[in-house]
This record gives sequence, C-alpha cells and structure tokens, in this order.
Amino acid sequence: MDELHRLYQEVILDHNRHPRNCHRLDTASCQADGFNPLCGDKLTLFLSIDDDNIIQQASFIGEGCAISTASASLMTDYLKGKTIDDAHTMFDLFHRALTTHETGVDKQLGKLAVLTGVREFPTRVKCATLAWHTLRSALANKTETACTE
Ligand code: ZN
Repeated sequence: MDELHRLYQEVILDHNRHPRNCHRLDTASCQADGFNPLCGDKLTLFLSIDDDNIIQQASFIGEGCAISTASASLMTDYLKGKTIDDAHTMFDLFHRALTTHETGVDKQLGKLAVLTGVREFPTRVKCATLAWHTLRSALANKTETACTE
C-alpha cells in the first residue's frame, strides 16, 4: 500500500471510530432512511435546509460497516453550508469517482477522495454510496427507504 492510500485508510478508520454529526436532528426539515442489503448497512439522514436552499445542518444515525459509517460522517461534514445544487453536483462526482476510472474526478472531491480506494472492491462501493443515495432521497423528500439495489 502506498503512502496516500495508507493515509486514506487512517482517515476512514478515524471517521468510523469517531463519526462526526452522528445524532438525530430535531430541527430537520427533511430526512430519509437508507439501506444497503448487500452489507446490511442502515442509516437515517437528517438535513436542516434554510429558505435560501442552503444546508445548515446535516446529521445521521445508523448502523453499518466502517466504510458506510465513514462515508456518512464525511458526507455530513461536507454538506454543512453547501447549497442543494452543490449537493447534487457532488453526488454525481462522487458516484463517478467510485464507479468509473475517470481520472481527474478524484481531485474535485476534496476530503471525500479518501473513499475512492473502494472502487477496487466493487462490493463495497454500495457501502460508500449509501449515504449519498439517502441524501438524494432526503432532498427529493421521499418517504420510502433509499435502497442501493
Ligand atoms: Zn457496508
């Protein structure tokens, strides 16, 4: 494993051990549930969005593997202060980075790039994208559970 990937793994383990924004949000303006049957990862995402479409708060609760927990932790950190448009744009970039080998996308991911290593493990890609599918479902104000299948 090279130095960069070792660093990435450290960050993932740290976010798994100490997930950021891991709590309910009583002031949430929308929320959604997500489930990845392949691994058993479950999460509920909470968002508080103001009248200017800016995400003021983002949090999650749930149970899942290290990748899914770290991804939800990193994503909720990223979302704070972003617009809904930013969130959709990042969903597309993140999804592309993990499911294709387009080089150049990784650089646009910022801190979220630590998760790009999972593209080498196709069965774990859904663990990493679960939080993002749930985000999309929360933004669409859907009531059904977002499923990675
Ligand atoms: Zn998982």
